[in-house]
Formats: sequence, C-alpha cells, structure tokens
Amino acid sequence: MSNFPEREFLEQLLITPSPTGFESAGQKVWTNYVEQFSDDLETDAYGSAVAKLNTSFDVITVMLEAHCDEIGMIVQHITEKGFVHVNKLGGSDSTIARAKRVNIHNKRGIVSGVIGNTAIHLQDKKNGGGDQPAWKDIYIDIGATSREEALEMIQIGDPITYADNFEFLSDDILTGRALDNRIGGFVIAQVLKRLWENRSNLNVNVMALNSVQEEVGGYGARMMSYRLEPDMALVTDVTHATDTPGINNAEHGLVKLGEGPVVQHGGANHPSIVTFIEEVSKTKEISLQHDAVSVRTGTDTDSIFYQKTGIPSGLISLPLRYMHSPVETASVADINSLINLMTECILSLEPDQTFSVL
Ligand SMILES: [Zn+2]
Repeated sequence: MSNFPEREFLEQLLITPSPTGFESAGQKVWTNYVEQFSDDLETDAYGSAVAKLNTSFDVITVMLEAHCDEIGMIVQHITEKGFVHVNKLGGSDSTIARAKRVNIHNKRGIVSGVIGNTAIHLQDKKNGGGDQPAWKDIYIDIGATSREEALEMIQIGDPITYADNFEFLSDDILTGRALDNRIGGFVIAQVLKRLWENRSNLNVNVMALNSVQEEVGGYGARMMSYRLEPDMALVTDVTHATDTPGINNAEHGLVKLGEGPVVQHGGANHPSIVTFIEEVSKTKEISLQHDAVSVRTGTDTDSIFYQKTGIPSGLISLPLRYMHSPVETASVADINSLINLMTECILSLEPDQTFSVL
C-alpha cells in the first residue's frame, strides 16, 4: 500500500520541518495543497490555517481539526568552546537524544549538528555516566571551535529538529519523525478533498483547521475555535498503540496498530458525538478501536470543547507506536480507515443536526 494516492503530498508534509512555534514552512505546504479543495482559506496571526467548504448560513458548521506542529528543541546557550546547549520544544524525550543527528533551522538555512554522546569507555559509571540525561545534560556539536564561530552559524532561539525523515518498513507500516501530527494534517486534507469531490451529498459547512502550537498547550486550536465558533468539532491526533513489549495494558489499555482508528471516550468527548461516530463506523463497516480518557485527552480537543458556550467535540485518533521519538510508527491502512471514517461522519450529518446529552 506504500504507493497510495497523494503519497507525494504526505511526503512533502513529512519532510518539511514544523517545530512548535515555528510552523510556517509546513503550513505553506498544507495550505498550497488544500487551496484546490476549498472555497475559502483563512490564516490567523500565529499561523493556524483553516480551509472552508460551503459557507451557508442555513446549515450547521463542522470543524475538522489537527495540529501542524512537531516537537523539537531550541538553542538555549552556546559555550566558549562552541558547544550548543538546548531546551526542549514540547514533550521531547531527553533520554533518547544523545548520538542523534539534528538540523538547526534559521533564516540562512539549515545547520547540521550531532548530539554529543560520551563514549561508553569514558563514561563515569559511578557519577551518573550512562544514566538517563536531562535536557541540561544534552549538547550539540556543530563543528564550531568557539562561541564566535558558532554564532556565525546559528543564534540563541533557533529551533532544532532531528535529521531523521521517514521510511516504509513494509507496504503498510510507515515510520519517521513527527508523524504526530503531520499525519493529522494529511488526514483532514484528504477528508476535505473527498468532501469537495462529493459536495452534492454534503449537507453541512466544513472547516478544516490545521492548528499551530498544540505541543506546548493547544494554543492555536484555542485561538481559532474561538474565532470560528463551529457547531461541532471532529478532531484527529495520534494515540498510543500499546501493542509493543513492555507496556502494561491494565494501566494503559490496549490499542493495536492496523486495527483501525480509535474513538476516545470521556473528558472533552461529547457522548452523543461518540455514539454518532460508533454508529457511522458500524453502518459503513469501518473497524473502530476504543480508548478511555480519565481527565484530559492530551490533544487539541481539550482546547476546543469549552470555547464560547461549548462546542460538542469528538476525537478520533490514529494508533501510533513510539510517540515523541524519531521513529514514530503508524499503519497506512489505519490512516485510510481514519480518512474514510471522518468523511463518512461528515456526509452523515443533517443540515440542522444538534448534539445534546439531555
Ligand atoms: Zn499530537
């Protein structure tokens, strides 16, 4: 399945870095693509982008949402010797950072670096060598011999991403950096395309929102859902596939790669929308997995549902292994099922559909 339609757009999205707070390059790829399937395109001051299909006053408006940013690092300090200390952007994991290649991004282009890893022979085992490093212990070597030389290449505040790209492990299994959540941007763009092609069967207005700054607190979604004030929202993001060794299913539930999208129950997820998603999956024979939320979904859904007087929201997630690492792994079959499910949900909506719990 690795030769699916729109693979080129997916690849473009995946190879374009969009570290949180610095998403404009990725957003340009996304807006260039969705423009052809929308009646109107709008962006806000911080770079969230929304593509609109139908803009009638007489029917409800449903917002599809994903986030466009990826986790990364940021240049924090440069030593006299030219080594670069970093801080994290979003929930990056310091324990997997060492010995990785990175790209430092600035207006002049990309500067390559490697994250220093003291050789196993030289590690001071007694004093914490070989242990789990914190971000303060991580530094990048960019080949500079002094602070001055480094400052000719980079500056404090430049965002950083791992140099890893993506590859297919099999026809179905895709692995790479920051599938969280450029896959979501891909999915909502494909849903928009299908709706554009099927617009004679579409009863509602659609807004596909690709938000900035999810990884640092769901800020882009908050700004845009306040502004757009949709009648309901269908959000997509990744969720943990918990089918790999070492994960306690009693604690984290069981979600499998390749067994379809995951409807989230609880928290910000509106019970009637959850039921609606379940019904559509049954009618259209799209396999669906289930996940329980105790407090927060940890996605933009948490930022959207309480805007204005409440926006009934539902989260449909893509199973993902190894989240927040450069080898995030997903199934193309799941991606296709997610696109199908979201498309069918929207095509099933009535022009005056409402969602309430009472
Ligand atoms: Zn995410």
